[in-house]
Amino acid sequence: MKRVLLLMTVNTYRASAYLAAAERSGVRSVVGTDRPDALAGLTPGGPMVLDFHAPEKAAGDIQAFAREHPLDAVIAVDDDTVIAGAMAAQALGLPAHTVEGARATRSKYELRKILDEEGLPSPGFRLVAAGEDPAPIARSLGYPCVLKPTFLAGSQGVIRADGEAEFAAAYRRIGKILEEAGTKERGGAEAGSILVEDYIPGREAAIEGLVAGGALHVLAIFDKPDPMEGPFFEETIYVTPSRLPEKTQAEIIRAVDRAAKAIGLRDGPVHAEVRVNDGGVWVIDIASRTIGGKCSGALEFGEGASLEELIIARALGTEPPAISRAGASSGVMMIPIPGRGILRGVEGMEEALAVLGVRSIDISIHTGGLVVPLPEGNRYLGFIFAGGETPAEAEEALRRAHAQLKFHIEPEAGSRKYPEI
Ligand code: ADP
Ligand code: CA
Repeated sequence: MKRVLLLMTVNTYRASAYLAAAERSGVRSVVGTDRPDALAGLTPGGPMVLDFHAPEKAAGDIQAFAREHPLDAVIAVDDDTVIAGAMAAQALGLPAHTVEGARATRSKYELRKILDEEGLPSPGFRLVAAGEDPAPIARSLGYPCVLKPTFLAGSQGVIRADGEAEFAAAYRRIGKILEEAGTKERGGAEAGSILVEDYIPGREAAIEGLVAGGALHVLAIFDKPDPMEGPFFEETIYVTPSRLPEKTQAEIIRAVDRAAKAIGLRDGPVHAEVRVNDGGVWVIDIASRTIGGKCSGALEFGEGASLEELIIARALGTEPPAISRAGASSGVMMIPIPGRGILRGVEGMEEALAVLGVRSIDISIHTGGLVVPLPEGNRYLGFIFAGGETPAEAEEALRRAHAQLKFHIEPEAGSRKYPEI
């Protein structure tokens, strides 16, 4: 039986999807994780403990493991694991993204530089290093602009500023996010810096792809029908297939293909976000892992294969089961977070599940858990999955289901207040 190493962080949303996919693919899975669990190493067949913040060391540990237990594939499940995963795969001669490619997806600043050099439509951008005086920079900028950490995901710390005062407030606010325990360790050399980009107006779409031998196979293009204009950029609905004109979709694919090649993605998943306006297709972000959170649940291929089964097949160097999406239209809603506090309960689940087209609802914060909105938050409240004959139907089902749900969130006693932006 082939053995696949799945590299995931302890906060991953993707564990169950990958483990189920490994089982369905008939491969044995071994989990490599950062969980500082002293016992794990003693448990035969238990998870391998790896320090993803020291990718060379993690890759060395994986190689040592592979000498005893040969590995047929190494798969980076989460952002924080992609560099170690690429290094280990390279050392073992297994198909994966190049190390440089993985690195470019872990630094939004590196990514900007590469895409700009490639000649793709690019916003003006600059990195404000930790400790630099932001005031003269604020005066020199054009507005609106977007400030963001270089290495986080899910729009955490991404803030639009329309003028100097907002810039200063956003700058301070992101600084606080980066000061949170354990945050900066994840981001490498530029983790303390803040990237500033021109704000790109336009419609946003996401593309889910599989790169095989350097060629991009498009698995789905998702529209994001809710406007994302800031100041914070909460993601909500994703619906596929896209309703954008064929010509625009072809331009999106071309742009992402060029971007993926320019940064050095070779074998593995790619998830990219683009904005489309009269100036063309603007690649906003590229990740070298699958779609965020549990959203891959919205995708099914061929005779019911999951996205993760395709990724596993590619990592093994075998033919994926299918790459054409099954079903008519499909969508997922990342449930918007109404406010900060403790989740006390959710009402209306039965009614929401009864909405025509709704497939499932997954609340991912447990009762009693803390719910934190953007820009500070980094956990999803939950996901609604729905399908329909048309994208409009799938979208409508998501909205109607969401309207049935009521979240009881109790403000925390003495909760920290953030200034309004
Ligand atoms: P993350 O990796 O945290 O998701 P992104 O860079 O993808 O960070 O930004 C999150 C969202 O913020 C994007 O999907 C987009 O809606 C918005 N955004 C980011 N940068 C820009 C920009 N330069 N212009 C307009 N919107 C942006
Ligand atoms: Ca993103």
